[in-house]
Amino acid sequence: MTWEPRPAPVVTPESEPYWTGGLNGDLRIQRCTDCDLVYVYPRAHCPDCLGDHVEWVEASGRGTVYSYTVAHQVAGWPDDDLPLVSAYVELDEGPRLMTNLVDCDPDDVAVGIAVEVRFEQSEDGEFAVPVFTPV
Ligand SMILES: [Zn+2]
Repeated sequence: MTWEPRPAPVVTPESEPYWTGGLNGDLRIQRCTDCDLVYVYPRAHCPDCLGDHVEWVEASGRGTVYSYTVAHQVAGWPDDDLPLVSAYVELDEGPRLMTNLVDCDPDDVAVGIAVEVRFEQSEDGEFAVPVFTPV
């Protein structure tokens, strides 16, 4: 698979561990050490208590499908990667993240099925995007 013409993430100092963790197979999410909230997407401040004592933790990479949709046409998306299944996955740690489901028949996808993380890496090796597949 080639990354282009898929859009590349904007890697900021706050999100860099999230985008590069997948290069080593790690799904990194953040935890507030003040209130213990675990959350996605990366932020410098806790979205609940607004504290700035946050740390990176390695998620299990397992979760369930919370919601999904199947797109058979996506402008600019490679035809060999359609249909595209976009989903909200609820991680075992609690937070939900927007992602894609890969290596699956869209007819087999359902709310509540178990999934696990994989990573799709850019050609330049600068980032890897977490995607999920049914288990
Ligand atoms: Zn907090």
